[in-house]
Amino acid sequence: MSYLFAGLDIGSTAIKVVLVDEEGHFAGEHVAESGSLFHRNAKEALRVLLEKRCIAREQVKYLIATGYGRKLFKEADDSISEITANAMGAHEVGKAFGGVRTIINIGGQDSKAIQIDDSGNVANFAMNDKCAAGTGRFLDVAARNLGIDLEELGDYHFNGKGVPLTINATCTVFAESEIIGLLANGHGKEEIVAGIHYSIAKRTVRLAKRVGIEERVYFDGGPALNKGLVAAMQDELQRELVVPEHPQTTTAFGAAILARSEFLAENN
Ligand code: ADP
Repeated sequence: MSYLFAGLDIGSTAIKVVLVDEEGHFAGEHVAESGSLFHRNAKEALRVLLEKRCIAREQVKYLIATGYGRKLFKEADDSISEITANAMGAHEVGKAFGGVRTIINIGGQDSKAIQIDDSGNVANFAMNDKCAAGTGRFLDVAARNLGIDLEELGDYHFNGKGVPLTINATCTVFAESEIIGLLANGHGKEEIVAGIHYSIAKRTVRLAKRVGIEERVYFDGGPALNKGLVAAMQDELQRELVVPEHPQTTTAFGAAILARSEFLAENN
């Protein structure tokens, strides 16, 4: 029977589960909504992934929980902060890109900048969890107000003919009325979307500058799936970003890698 190791990232908005095999290679992932029942939904997300991959629960030898709701998952073998897990995940994935030293993560309700050393340890970090305006929540609310799907934000960004509009609001609730006001004044959704992306990018780059930006810069979290936001971030940073194939599951992957290491350390 082959063994697997799991990382379970219980985020404020989404639950991510990643499996790695005995060699530490990626062996599957699943993303589900966190909802209000974190523990139940996390258990269910793990069950769905195991079922999808025809894996028995006993094959998962060690599971590390991370993220906002990690303390609620008592069945975990260990729990670690999302900063540590994100650092390890980005370090591992970043190897294929020549190594990364700065991580910018935008999550559902917070954003972070992390500086890592060349072994994937956290050297410094800064976090914004006070204001939703620079987070995925802002994008969720904006997409809803504009009547478009989250997945369409990227296309709207690139289809704009005019200059991205300036979004002044510093809070999601005010941004909501600002967006409605802009629509009522006849502005195009494309220019509003681009304006929102630049507003988030400006905030996030200010945060990243607080920890210092070292090459190469890795961008992850669910909002990194949005190509329009990636483009705005690159413009504001004046450099290319490393955006992995699975930006939303880097932290869960890091937790799975650490689950394997802890298991090996305890059993050798
Ligand atoms: P957390 O770990 O805080 O729960 P995530 O890193 O999972 O946050 O990111 C959640 C956010 O990702 C959502 O609020 C949403 O804005 C964004 N997101 C998720 N899927 C997509 C997608 N396909 N396209 C654009 N944005 C997305």
